[in-house]
Amino acid sequence: MPTIIDGKLTSSQIKEEIKTRVEEIKAEGGKTPHLAAILVGYDGASQTYVGAKVKACEYVGFESTLVRLEETVTEEELLRKVEEINENPDIDGLIVQLPLPKHISVEKVTSKIRPEKDVDGFTPANVGRMALNWPAYVAATPYGIIELLKRYEIETSGKHCVVIGRSHIVGSPMSILMARNGYPGNATVTLTHSRTKNLEEIARTADILIVALGKPEFVTADMVKPGAVVIDVGIHRVEDASKKSGFRLIGDVKFDEVAEKASAITPVPGGVGPMTIASLLYNTLLSAEKKVYS
Ligand code: NAP
Repeated sequence: MPTIIDGKLTSSQIKEEIKTRVEEIKAEGGKTPHLAAILVGYDGASQTYVGAKVKACEYVGFESTLVRLEETVTEEELLRKVEEINENPDIDGLIVQLPLPKHISVEKVTSKIRPEKDVDGFTPANVGRMALNWPAYVAATPYGIIELLKRYEIETSGKHCVVIGRSHIVGSPMSILMARNGYPGNATVTLTHSRTKNLEEIARTADILIVALGKPEFVTADMVKPGAVVIDVGIHRVEDASKKSGFRLIGDVKFDEVAEKASAITPVPGGVGPMTIASLLYNTLLSAEKKVYS
């Protein structure tokens, strides 16, 4: 049986560590870390995600501010709100929940966020710092994967890491992080995408396979080298009448058959997914303690 890389357990351990640190800061008379979130409109999933983030802040002892704006808010008004939070010395981190309504430019809004408060790690400044191996806020999903590799003591140096998918929020930063000089890192990385030829052959050469293409159960056992470490980022809802909710979650990897070949694997759910909120809290703590931009 492979090692099951348990993101649920790891994320709760990280939350406990952050909670303990916040208690220490408060006992020392320091400032309570404070995260602000801007939510535009009433998208159901976005409301759930933001709600979970606010609840997690409360759990670890952070302050949080939720700014709710109507779907009809203008770009100028939203940019003004971002600027106001940028200027507020009490707020350490700011996230703007995506997606935004079509009339608002995500690029404009993201570039307005002061890099020192960009705890989502989406601004060009933080992406650039990450690529340079400088202290940076790393985006939640890649940070979560790195943390899982570290905590499960997965050897990465000299290994061949194949990343499937090159999105700005997952695949592309993952490829940079795995190639960096450090741990986890020092891997030889192949970044693949929809134009890649012989993907199956390339995947079979991976010691570490990171799958983030958004296609349910795309990776099958015949694409995996025996003993590989498999990280599944995909999340998909599929109907399942046997469940009370009427659905279940699956990943980009065909878990049961791939688990028989892998030495370690992340499940879906309970793998990479739960790590994202822990990452956000961690970045906010880094910001409050001035550990990235000092
Ligand atoms: P995305 O922006 O849709 O990017 C998908 C990437 O996969 C693109 O680079 C695309 O190539 C590549 N791709 C698509 N079909 C392919 C194929 N047949 N062969 C090889 N490459 C292919 O996706 P994303 O935002 O990175 O998300 C990927 C998955 O992870 C989704 O299921 C998403 O729900 C999930 N996700 C989970 C978390 C989490 O917390 N667990 C966080 C974020 C995302 P091109 O660039 O050539 O189009």
